Amino acid sequence: MNGATYWRHAEPADFAVLGDPVGHSWSPAMHRAAYAARGLDLRYTALQVPREELPEALEALTELGYRGVNCTVPLKEDAFAWAERIDEASRAYGALNTLRLTDRAGTNTDAPGLLDTFADLAVPQGAAVLLLGAGGTARAVVLALHRAGFAVRVANRTRANAERMIASLDLDVPILDAPDLAGVNVVINATSAGLSGEAWPLDWSRSHPDVLAYDLLYAREPTPFVADAARAGRRTVDGRALLAAQGARSFSWWLGGEPPRVEMRAALP
Ligand code: NDP
Repeated sequence: MNGATYWRHAEPADFAVLGDPVGHSWSPAMHRAAYAARGLDLRYTALQVPREELPEALEALTELGYRGVNCTVPLKEDAFAWAERIDEASRAYGALNTLRLTDRAGTNTDAPGLLDTFADLAVPQGAAVLLLGAGGTARAVVLALHRAGFAVRVANRTRANAERMIASLDLDVPILDAPDLAGVNVVINATSAGLSGEAWPLDWSRSHPDVLAYDLLYAREPTPFVADAARAGRRTVDGRALLAAQGARSFSWWLGGEPPRVEMRAALP
């Protein structure tokens, strides 16, 4: 990815990922690969949009002819507030990552995308999942997993934030005082600790040898969470899996038809 353009300097295009910062995003490469695979003459770009400027930016991009945008950190909740048409399944998430500008519609492809990756990774139905974190992404993930029948439990650095999250969703989900990996099939890291090169210290020796360590963060190098789990000999997957899955769902939501999943995944570094 070659950086991002501030939205006020945006050239006409068809789709974009908006965020702040967003220069690190791999979405443009992935969607361009999809268009090439399908022979579509469409342009996908990355635009830096400060949070308070999102409504103004969306209006300007609509006038420039943009059909849709993905929203990433820190815009997903503001995208939810902007959308006028939100499908039933996405309404409870309180955050959207995919918008259609022509009719102010929005959907959340992160949550169903995560379930797609569970299927790809052959996570058994009803598996025990420990979710680390209580931010915007964790909220969508805990709801999606609970709805899909997984035995999910949550741990968060600030327990009160996890309590607020679970209470606001009105879910019956256990909150742990500290992460305990015993008896867990999958550990999902939905904290942002890795963004500053940190990992929440976990005792991998308590985990089953077949546990799956799943980081939602992605980076060229192994993330701190992935590196720790791999050192303990555990199976790992990073946020590329979710990036590709949510991107494939956004592609279909905007354009219809089957997404070229293989080409999209292959476009990620
Ligand atoms: P938020 O800022 O909303 O939430 C941050 C969470 O991380 C909070 O629970 C916070 O705990 C916790 N946290 C922050 N620092 C630490 C630390 N040093 N140790 C332990 N916990 C910490 O972030 P998001 O929910 O938006 O994103 C979470 C992660 O998911 C990010 O890394 C993001 O990149 C990734 N993501 C990846 C996607 C993909 O496509 N691959 C899609 C969406 C998200 P506390 O409550 O105590 O502050």
